[in-house]
Amino acid sequence: MKDYLIRVMTTNKEIRALAVNSTGVVREAQKAHDTTPVATAALGRTLNGALLMGSMVKTGQETALKIAGDGPLGKIAAEANHHGEVRGYVQNPKVDFMTSRQGKLDVAQAIGKGQLVVRKDLGVEEPYEGSVPLVSGEIGEDLTYYFTQSEQVPSAVGLGVLVDTDLSVKAAGGFIVQLLPEASEETIEQLEENLAEIESVSRLIDHGLSPEELLEKILSGFEFRTLAEKEVIYKCKCSKEDTKNLLASLGKEEIEEIIAEEGKIEIECHFCGEVYQYSKEEVEEI
Ligand SMILES: [Zn+2]
Repeated sequence: MKDYLIRVMTTNKEIRALAVNSTGVVREAQKAHDTTPVATAALGRTLNGALLMGSMVKTGQETALKIAGDGPLGKIAAEANHHGEVRGYVQNPKVDFMTSRQGKLDVAQAIGKGQLVVRKDLGVEEPYEGSVPLVSGEIGEDLTYYFTQSEQVPSAVGLGVLVDTDLSVKAAGGFIVQLLPEASEETIEQLEENLAEIESVSRLIDHGLSPEELLEKILSGFEFRTLAEKEVIYKCKCSKEDTKNLLASLGKEEIEEIIAEEGKIEIECHFCGEVYQYSKEEVEEI
């Protein structure tokens, strides 16, 4: 099954929702960064969050999530665009000692305390940036808190990654549900009841549920209409051109020193590991 995302609205116009199946995306990310299970789960959830949020904005806009925790994983970042392309990285992809007493991957502990930063590049002027403290480190709950606090939209976010015993990604996906201003008390109650029934998104996807079927569960009792559907992929957009800016931001002395020692400069993309080389001549041109 291809990875895809859908965006829907209930016919009573009181709820909007998105759901994604991203098993292939998170598999790609796991391979690109060779992550251990807890890092796969943390990065995968962040990628899912970015994909979903990236589809809530207009065409041409980009959404970036940064989880800046003080736990062993370090920083986690994910960037998604409106076309369903996402990329991400985790600072320490090899963290591997975190399982809770129940034998579950302890993402919260591996992330620690810190901030969740959301950046939306709207293509005009300064990008919008909002941040909230991490309330749980589980990422889904943190995004729920972000929507309520920072954007004042009552929301529920579920993000999941199921890692198999051979460390590969078994299933991944997520959802965002938001109440629109006209939502009635009855709607809120029904939705809360439905959400209480959802235990684990990744297990539901592992059981074969499509994004539509996932939303049928979450929006049980409501009729809804699909507004958009798109394929999602893990894709880095880096280019040698982008790394030039990074190179330009390094100090002149630092650059001269590296050139003197190595005869060239190598810049590696955080997101995909691609290495861009600059010869002495190229550096001089810049
Ligand atoms: Zn790259």
